[in-house]
Amino acid sequence: MMDQIISRLNNNQNVLLATHVNPDGDAIGSLLAMGLALEKLKIEAKLFCQSPIPPLYRFLPWSHRVCRILGDHRKYETAIILDCGELERIGKEAQWVRQIPVIINIDHHSTNTYFGHINYVYTKACATAEIIYYLINEIGVTINQPIARCLYTGILTDTGSFRLTNTNHAAFEICQKLVKAGVDPHDVAKHVYGQYSLARIKLLNLALDSLEISKNGKLSLMTLTHKMLKETGTQNEDIDGMINYARRIKNIKLAVLIQEYQKGHPPTGEKGRYHVSLRSDGSIDVANIAISFGGGGHVTAAGFCTESRLPHLKKSIFKLAEAL
Ligand code: 5GP
Ligand code: MN
Repeated sequence: MMDQIISRLNNNQNVLLATHVNPDGDAIGSLLAMGLALEKLKIEAKLFCQSPIPPLYRFLPWSHRVCRILGDHRKYETAIILDCGELERIGKEAQWVRQIPVIINIDHHSTNTYFGHINYVYTKACATAEIIYYLINEIGVTINQPIARCLYTGILTDTGSFRLTNTNHAAFEICQKLVKAGVDPHDVAKHVYGQYSLARIKLLNLALDSLEISKNGKLSLMTLTHKMLKETGTQNEDIDGMINYARRIKNIKLAVLIQEYQKGHPPTGEKGRYHVSLRSDGSIDVANIAISFGGGGHVTAAGFCTESRLPHLKKSIFKLAEAL
């Protein structure tokens, strides 16, 4: 697998590196680390993400180089797709990217559909950044401080700061090496967790206010509408992480966050006005629930998009509580 990827990279110059819409720390960290590593090999890759890079990740090297426009897909010989369970996760350009001669799929989602010509899917990895760490070592690039910072951010955020069930020994082993390579954990944490704008805190207030709990006390639901974003002067990307408040409530097995997107701006390649995030306490598999609604994800964190109307959507979510 690794050999196939390396030989493809050695024989290719026009590489597209892409990750999913609404990128999280792992998506961005993996994308940037891979871009920086390829540059060391003198391979110029285009870094693509349909959505803007959330402001809190703009401290990462090369984050300004990520393009939101794909351009002519015919110029690429190879596409490397990072942290995507399905190719559609990259957004509406998936239809063009699909036509690139060789697609390399690098991911850790258990719901991955093996959409690539080469698939490096390792579901035991805590983050895609863990796989990228192995890959960069294999291709013989030294992990310098900028690369280390990107990978560290990926592992830190995808493991929920080493707290989620995907936190494995590799997370600690690799992060130890990344810290040795020059990462300052305090500095990264400060950027990632310590810089909420006042607008974001006001949105959090509305998010907490929207909390609803199922009758049996096992399901929590937060709802963030476009109106709330407008009122507080925030964007959908500011919602990132707020579901954790719903997840942390005692006895909650399933936490849900519904967010509304403005019409015409669906968050994924899939259509839908609402995006629903699901988190479990580890006792249930939310990837299965997400799949039943047309989405995907991991056992403890998953999501889907829907065009349902809000009352109907809420009703079908509260129905899930009965099985908990
Ligand atoms: P989040 O709730 O933070 O947006 O996403 C949690 C996880 O669920 C992500 O790692 C992602 O893999 C998956 N996920 C979220 N939304 C979607 C979606 O609309 N479609 C699919 N296939 N997966 C999703
Ligand atoms: Mn990930």
